[in-house]
Amino acid sequence: MRFNTGLLHDGVNRKEYHGATLPPICQSSAFDQESAEGLEKIFEGTAPGYCYTRVGNPTITAFENRITRLEGGVGSIACASGMAAIFNAIMGIVQSGDEIISCAGLYGGTIDLFHDLEAFGIKSTFIEPNNTGAIEAAFTERTRLVFAETISNPGLVVTDVEVLSEIAHKHDVPLILDNTTATAYLFKGLEHGADVVVNSSSKYINGSSNSISGILTLGGKFKWDIEKYPALAEYKKFGPFAYIARLRNSLFRDMGACLSPQNAFLNLLGLETLGLRMERQCSNALDLARFLQKEFPDLVVNYPGLNSSTSHEIAKKQFGEKYGAIVTVRTGSKISAYSLINSLTIPYKLSNVGDTKTLVIHPASTISLHSTDKEREDAGVYDDLVRISVGIEDVEDLKEDFANAVKLISNS
Ligand SMILES: *Cc1c(COP(=O)(O)O)cnc(C)c1O
Repeated sequence: MRFNTGLLHDGVNRKEYHGATLPPICQSSAFDQESAEGLEKIFEGTAPGYCYTRVGNPTITAFENRITRLEGGVGSIACASGMAAIFNAIMGIVQSGDEIISCAGLYGGTIDLFHDLEAFGIKSTFIEPNNTGAIEAAFTERTRLVFAETISNPGLVVTDVEVLSEIAHKHDVPLILDNTTATAYLFKGLEHGADVVVNSSSKYINGSSNSISGILTLGGKFKWDIEKYPALAEYKKFGPFAYIARLRNSLFRDMGACLSPQNAFLNLLGLETLGLRMERQCSNALDLARFLQKEFPDLVVNYPGLNSSTSHEIAKKQFGEKYGAIVTVRTGSKISAYSLINSLTIPYKLSNVGDTKTLVIHPASTISLHSTDKEREDAGVYDDLVRISVGIEDVEDLKEDFANAVKLISNS
């Protein structure tokens, strides 16, 4: 099945849901079995079935299966948030003394998490994406994974995933890729060398900002050396599923950051229109970015779809002439950035991306408030920067609204 058909029909057994067109919400904490023996088998993992929603639930499984098919992986684990998915993806394989090589300019929450991990003896080194020499030089005996984002935010630097994964694999470590801002619509990381893909499904996958959630998906090709990854030793018998089995049977269930069945349902609903929304959002973003660049030469517009973006060539190669739905503009000063935001009438002013509605924010005073100056510089966060998450509105309305707001800055 092609992309949009798959989002609607792939992996669905129509009979299973009594003909319902969406998987029903199994709003149950625990699941009855016919016998004590039956329950024992489920706890042992020797029979299929459900026991407790923190570990698994049919509605959550339906969401996990659909994402697994979408990303082309062997299995997924849905979590309570994107941060919980990132935490599980990393902590499932590292231990005290291990090191992470990470691209700089990550989502602020992920940088904060990596700093928090230092207290547990896990050290992270941050390197500019695509600086292959510096990435190579950062490897040590204790490096256990490479972490990157497909499109950084708000820097909008596009990682060359194939090149990065080759470096990681040369050193026998996996590449974990946060694909939230690109989504599988633009890029299927597992097909291009990533070993684990994480998505904050709170964003484009859900699409309407109605629930927080995250999901990690395993590619199944990486060969885990259990000397290097002793946490997986016990799960070696699961072959290509060892990593998923390790999480499902220990860290993920112990941490307790499971997704709620209701939110799994809302994600399944949102996912049906991911392709349609992304198509419209990417075209609106390109249109708006070109318009602002052409009409207002005083603004510095950044968007991977513009020839002026340093990531334009990589984006074109990797995403096939689609460039995502986040645009940034530099207005010249913090005052003018605030004035632009305050003069807009259509966008919501909030800290999120990937909604059907256009959203704007001043990153320096909000999402990057706790970052160091160096981290802000790495992330491409400037005092005069406004981030726009472009929605599915009629683009002419967006252009008019932005044009009016920019003119108000120029007049004041
Ligand atoms: C939002 C986001 C996260 C965190 O996801 P939550 O669902 O908010 O926990 C991680 N990475 C990226 C790129 C994000 O945009």
